[in-house]
Amino acid sequence: MPETEYKVSIIVQNISKLYGSQKALNDVSFEVKPAEIVGFLGPNGAGKSTMMKIITCFLPQTSGKVSVCGFDVEEQSLEVRQQVGYLPEHNPLYLEMYVKEYLEFIGGLHKIKNTKSRVKEMIEATGLQVEQNKKIGALSKGYRQRVGIAQALIHNPKVLILDEPTTGLDPNQLEEIRSLIKNVGKEKTVMLSTHIMQEVEAVCDRVIIVNNGEIVANDDTHNLQKARREQQLVLVEFDREVSRTALKNIPGVIDAKNIEANKWHIIAHDDKDIRKDIFDFAVKNGVSVLALQKQEQKLEDVFKQLTKK
Ligand code: ADP
Ligand code: MG
Repeated sequence: MPETEYKVSIIVQNISKLYGSQKALNDVSFEVKPAEIVGFLGPNGAGKSTMMKIITCFLPQTSGKVSVCGFDVEEQSLEVRQQVGYLPEHNPLYLEMYVKEYLEFIGGLHKIKNTKSRVKEMIEATGLQVEQNKKIGALSKGYRQRVGIAQALIHNPKVLILDEPTTGLDPNQLEEIRSLIKNVGKEKTVMLSTHIMQEVEAVCDRVIIVNNGEIVANDDTHNLQKARREQQLVLVEFDREVSRTALKNIPGVIDAKNIEANKWHIIAHDDKDIRKDIFDFAVKNGVSVLALQKQEQKLEDVFKQLTKK
C-alpha cells in the first residue's frame, strides 16, 4: 500500500439523496481505504450511480457528508475533482474526435503539464496504441471503455470511480477491462459499480451491496463467495399443494419460497444435493414432482444470506 497522509480515501457519512419526493439514497455510510478495489453491487435503480455522482461532485447530496482524500465534496470540490477520476455510466465521448485529440483535450481541461507525453503514457497504459489514430466513433465498445478509463486517469488522480465499466462488453473485452482495472487498483483506490456478482468476485477486494438506496452488506469479497458456495437454489414443481412448513422441515433446507401455484424455490445448504431429499419428501407424501432443477443463485438470495448476521 502506498504511503499516504490520510488513512481513508473515501468517507461517506449518512448520505441521503432525494429526487423530488423519491429517496434514491437513505442514510448511506461507508469508507474506502487507499489502494482498495471496492465493488458497489446492486440491482438497477439501487442508487449506485447517484452515490458515484455525489462522490465525484456531479450531484449535491440532500444530507450527509462525503470526503475524498480528506477534502469535502461540497466545500472543496475543486480539490476533490483533482483527486478523482470518473468514468460515468454511459461513458459520454465525442465520437467525432480522434482518440489522441480527445485525450489531449481532456488533459487541457485539467491543465496538466506535458499533455502530449502524458497522453502517450495513458495510451500505453490502457492498451490503445493500435487504435490511437482512429476516431472514437470507429472504436468497439471495449476500446471506447479504454478511452474512458484513459480520460479518467489522465490527471493522475488517487481515486478512480468507475460506473458500470464492463456493461455491454463481450467476454474478451470484459476480461481485458477487468485486468486493466486490477492493474490500476494496485496503486490507486478504485470504486466500481456493477449489477453482476461475478464481476465483484473477479476484481474486487471488498463488496458493498446496495439495494433500494440502502447498504445491505459491506464485506470482504471472499465472504461473499463463501456465502454463495454454502447454499444452493433449486426450483421444484409439485402436482398439488404442499405447505411451506413441510418443505422447510426437510433437513438441509434453509428457506422455501412459493413462486407460483405449486412451484417453489428451495434454498438449502450446499453440503449435499438437496434434490434427492426433495424427491424423497414428495414420495413419502404421495405428491408427484413435475420439475426439479438446480438454479443459478440470484443476487437477492445472497443479499439475504449476507445480511442475516
Ligand atoms: P443505479 O445506478 O443503481 O441503477 P440510480 O442511482 O441511477 O441507480 O437511481 C436510483 C434511483 O433514483 C432510481 O429509482 C432512479 O429512478 C432514481 N433517479 C436517478 N436519477 C434521477 C433523476 N435525475 N431524477 C429522478 N429520479 C432519479
Ligand atoms: Mg447506474
